[in-house]
Amino acid sequence: MTELKPGATIGILGGGQLGRMLSVAASRLGYRCHVYEPGAAPAGDVAHAVTNAPYEDHQALRAFAESVDVITYEFENVPTSALDLLESLRPIRPNRRALAVSQDRLTEKDFLTGIGLTTAPYRNVETEADLPAALADLGAPAILKTRRMGYDGKGQIRFSDAGQRDWTGAPSVLEGFVAFSAEVSVIVARGADGQVAAYDPGLNVHRGGILRTTTVPCGLPASLLTDAVLIAARIVNALDYVGVMGVELFVTPQGLIVNEIAPRVHNSGHWTQAGCAVDQFEQHIRAVAGLPLGDGQRYADVEMENLIGDDIDRIPDLLRRPRTQVHLYGKGEARPGRKMGHVNRVL
Ligand code: AMP
Repeated sequence: MTELKPGATIGILGGGQLGRMLSVAASRLGYRCHVYEPGAAPAGDVAHAVTNAPYEDHQALRAFAESVDVITYEFENVPTSALDLLESLRPIRPNRRALAVSQDRLTEKDFLTGIGLTTAPYRNVETEADLPAALADLGAPAILKTRRMGYDGKGQIRFSDAGQRDWTGAPSVLEGFVAFSAEVSVIVARGADGQVAAYDPGLNVHRGGILRTTTVPCGLPASLLTDAVLIAARIVNALDYVGVMGVELFVTPQGLIVNEIAPRVHNSGHWTQAGCAVDQFEQHIRAVAGLPLGDGQRYADVEMENLIGDDIDRIPDLLRRPRTQVHLYGKGEARPGRKMGHVNRVL
């Protein structure tokens, strides 16, 4: 692929905080961004252009595609019909296969186990009628997750005994409960030339299904760190991936288990803004623009903390702290559970 020239325009599907930070990184490299977002678009404040239209509006999608040189995304649940149209007009990076694999938890698990990686034991639960057999098979505790559209723990039901009968209301997968000692993630990038660069795995702590903090270094032994990076590299190579991906892993006494993959920049990679010369946002832009990747080298220990809901009341205090970077997403109302910003504290 040829490199995008300065002044070229990158189209971004999704206008949330990830799109906002991608737009800032793209502008530093001399590119413009055109954001496509059906709802509120914090990315619109910093992008060159914004289209505010639903993914069903094919006229708007066509005009968007024709105004850009390449299309990427910060949101993986873009409808297939919109992607079909966009792909007929401009290249989409990362590719459609990466999207298809990560849009559906069953396809994702089949793909991961198919390339020799370990996931939680799982069963397809297409309808409510499949649930008793799946529960009898895997036993309790187990977690039922909708195959599509789940994030931040949404669309999930925990089963503490195999006789329990609750239903998500949509095709799901049942996962055996993994007794993990820690959750880590690898932010990995693959360039258009096949070069792979990974950042140090981060230790993730969730509360109420939402990521609270990511800390690097994550404290795992060197052998597991290497394993984590090799797993991430195997995934991006198998998908012929171009861009940044987040790979979430459970640490268990038997080794690392892949929880899920996100075909985009990832909340658990925000620490790279304070810890690396080239952060995950610039890395993603470099990849989709066909530029050489930056290395993933980390020059600081960092703790990233999400500012959720009324955590933003702490901003006056956070701004006074040393070695602390405050990032705000420009969102209006601080509703409970809403990600309003994050802080990177250099340790
Ligand atoms: P997910 O949306 O699949 O990432 O799940 C949200 C969170 O639920 C994860 O970060 C874990 O803390 C927990 N979780 C998900 N799946 C499992 C599992 N199979 N076993 C144990 N905990 C899980």
